[in-house]
Amino acid sequence: MTAYDTDNIFAKILRGEIPSFTVYEDDETYCFMDIMPRSDGHCLVIPKTPCRNILDATPAQLAACMATVSKVANAAKVAFNADGITLQQFSEAAGGQEVFHLHFHIHPRHDGLPLRPAGVMGDMEVIKGHAAAIAAALT
Ligand code: 5GP
Repeated sequence: MTAYDTDNIFAKILRGEIPSFTVYEDDETYCFMDIMPRSDGHCLVIPKTPCRNILDATPAQLAACMATVSKVANAAKVAFNADGITLQQFSEAAGGQEVFHLHFHIHPRHDGLPLRPAGVMGDMEVIKGHAAAIAAALT
């Protein structure tokens, strides 16, 4: 398996070298908004320690991420009055992964509304507002 690249975008976000819209953080995980949102409220949960994806993550990294996914998914459902949540995780290029630091996509979903196409930059003011809405719904 390819080694972890310390210069991947999410590692830079964790080091504060690239800005991000924070939703939630604790000692082990960080949740922030995706800047090319495929749904309103599309956010990402990552471990603060390095690993590429599901194939090299430790049980402790996965457990910490899942605890945060659960918290944020429930808050996002409330914040967007969503009917459901889609959770996505892609591992390695063949699996659809583009950024090689483990991450889980959280999408609030509404009945009959498909995900938008990937790779389209969002409006930063709107995304900032969505981060605040999810953060406010966290208990
Ligand atoms: P993957 O295909 O690796 O699961 O998804 C990577 C995600 O990272 C994509 O949804 C993409 O929109 C998002 N992304 C790429 N560059 C940046 C960035 O600089 N900041 C943030 N917040 N998200 C990014």
